[in-house]
Amino acid sequence: MSFFKTARPFVIAGPCSAETREQVMETAAALSVMNVQLFRAGVWKPRTKPGSFEGNGAEALKWLQEAKQTYNVPVAVEVAEPAHIELALKHDIDVLWVGARTTVNPFQVQHLADALRGIDIPVMVKNPVNADVDLWEGAIERFAKAGVKNLAAIHRGFSGYTPATGYRNQPNWPIPIELKRRKPELAIICDPSHITGNRSRIAEVAQKAMDMHFDGLMIETHPRPDEAWSDAAQQITPVQLKEILAGLIVREEYTQDMSGLMQLEYLRQLMDSLDAEIIDLLARRMELSEQMGLVKKDCNLTAYQPARWRDIVETRGERAQAHMLSKEFIVKLYEQIHHESIRRQLAILESTEKEIKK
Ligand code: PEP
Ligand code: MN
Repeated sequence: MSFFKTARPFVIAGPCSAETREQVMETAAALSVMNVQLFRAGVWKPRTKPGSFEGNGAEALKWLQEAKQTYNVPVAVEVAEPAHIELALKHDIDVLWVGARTTVNPFQVQHLADALRGIDIPVMVKNPVNADVDLWEGAIERFAKAGVKNLAAIHRGFSGYTPATGYRNQPNWPIPIELKRRKPELAIICDPSHITGNRSRIAEVAQKAMDMHFDGLMIETHPRPDEAWSDAAQQITPVQLKEILAGLIVREEYTQDMSGLMQLEYLRQLMDSLDAEIIDLLARRMELSEQMGLVKKDCNLTAYQPARWRDIVETRGERAQAHMLSKEFIVKLYEQIHHESIRRQLAILESTEKEIKK
């Protein structure tokens, strides 16, 4: 079984950065008596601006080694260069992770994967800062090809100007879900600390991750979060972590509850027939669209008509709201439907033009 699936949730906790020997030992002591499977601490910190605290490097690896021996807990650090891997291995580090700013660079990921060839150590790959599932999957594949057997993906959110959620990084849940669809065996761990950037919202994202069938959680934990040398606003105390874990509802994909399963099966059958109707209706809608394409061609009209599209957004949006559906959801759906309509009409306009030229 995968190293990362030995508990659910598989909990990774520890400070953003290993600041001092005392801070590392104090945090590890507190976490060692809790339901935490892996102790994390950054010793090389990728910082946005120069001059911020960039980690204590090899010195801090000794503190992690001591914490591991004293409290009997496996330890993990972030590596960004082959030299980091070499030092981490020399100091008995149990698990490595690749940060979001490294995953984004296939050259660097390949250097790291090459350095791990023939070494059996679990590796966690954070999502790249940009919302690109292929790039994330590609990085994981580079490690798999190098022979790394225990792999996990860490979802830490994506940069972008979308302030609506109020989070530091946008969760963009369809991306980790798509990764899981492509790689069903891969362990996926959520990092609510870096998604929210705000300790008061960690519990809600941790719960959501559990409800989305994630395997684990990585949560930054510090004895005195407000004094942390990096990522202070998002770190929580071990006691707060304990409360969050105690409050989590861990849901499963399968159940033995026969009456629940039968109810679900009944509802699924209703849903299957509704979906069949939706698809039949969409097919009829596309036929109408093609007939309109022929008329547009005859009248020398454009396939895309902005006023008509505005009207569709308005009327379908209102109808959605009357049914307690979110306008945003329906408009997004219609964007896809309308896009397909236009694509078909363009094909009609173009094929007819070619026929005329002949
Ligand atoms: C971290 O885990 O402290 C870290 C630097 O994360 P990320 O690569 O997600 O920014
Ligand atoms: Mn951090």
